[in-house]
Amino acid sequence: MTALSIVVPCFNEEACLVVLHERLSRAARATVGDDYEIVLVNDGSRDNSWATMVQLSEGDSHLLAVNLSRNHGHQLALTAGLDLCRGDTILIVDADLQDPPELLTPMLETMQREAADVVYGVRRSRAGETAFKRATAHGFYRLLSRATEVDIPLDAGDFRLMSRRALDALLAMPEQARFIRGMVAWIGFRQVPFPYDRAERHAGETKYPISKMVRFALDALTGFSSAPLKLASHAGLLLSMSSLLLIAYIAYAWVAHRSIQGWTSLMLVVVVLGAIQMFVLALMGEYIGRLYNEAKGRPLYIVQEIAGRSRPARLGYL
Ligand code: UDP
Ligand code: MG
Repeated sequence: MTALSIVVPCFNEEACLVVLHERLSRAARATVGDDYEIVLVNDGSRDNSWATMVQLSEGDSHLLAVNLSRNHGHQLALTAGLDLCRGDTILIVDADLQDPPELLTPMLETMQREAADVVYGVRRSRAGETAFKRATAHGFYRLLSRATEVDIPLDAGDFRLMSRRALDALLAMPEQARFIRGMVAWIGFRQVPFPYDRAERHAGETKYPISKMVRFALDALTGFSSAPLKLASHAGLLLSMSSLLLIAYIAYAWVAHRSIQGWTSLMLVVVVLGAIQMFVLALMGEYIGRLYNEAKGRPLYIVQEIAGRSRPARLGYL
């Protein structure tokens, strides 16, 4: 075991790597001395990132460089690094130095002082990001927090410090579409926010074009909320209510001879069929929601600790 692992997903970041390595090493050494590792994951970069990583790893035994077979995306590259790291405490940072490595010391202090399992960075400000990025991110986190059942913190990225047991719980979630900041919120334990100012990118430009942002947002929403599936239920309920009113009116028109021939039966068929269809859709939505939940295969619960003399022989997940 190592005291500290720093995990960094990298996609086309050759211009950042040398400075990144230097600043991470300095921050790590200042907090845990020699007992640390840096895990750089090359997410199918098309520039010289991998060659740079190999070169850096030759001169530094703390460095573990991992080359993925192609671009798997930020969250999966991060997962690969988390799978491979061995630290008791794990720090996740971006490769572009937007998350200052020097915050490691105060974050570690917060973790110890608060006896927390997760200390997550909350962006107080975001330097050097476009108004569009800021506005979409702002809207995204608020929409997410309204739609989801899990309390996902506002304006928090993946920059965070985690304990080994929190990481193990995270890695016990086998789902394919991974929205890691939401998954960390899901596992529970004591999680403490750490406000910080987000720096500008050290070099290069964002590796999140709109297409990736949209996919990311969809993974987040669908992975943590069944609100879109419930749309049919709400529409069905609304339609059933309004069809009751309509049926009352149709009956009245029929009794008062105010309808033309054929209108009554036609309207009844349309309204009733529409309501039944909505109802069936809603029913299917509920089943699909449950199927989806099963398919995610998450652990049923996560035990934080156990007290008492007689220990259980086996636990589902500890
Ligand atoms: N990244 C990655 N694979 C991708 C896209 C991004 O590993 O397909 C990495 C990237 O190298 C960086 C982190 O994910 O370390 C966050 O990306 P970026 O800084 O471009 O996002 P932004 O800060 O603009 O939201
Ligand atoms: Mg960035």
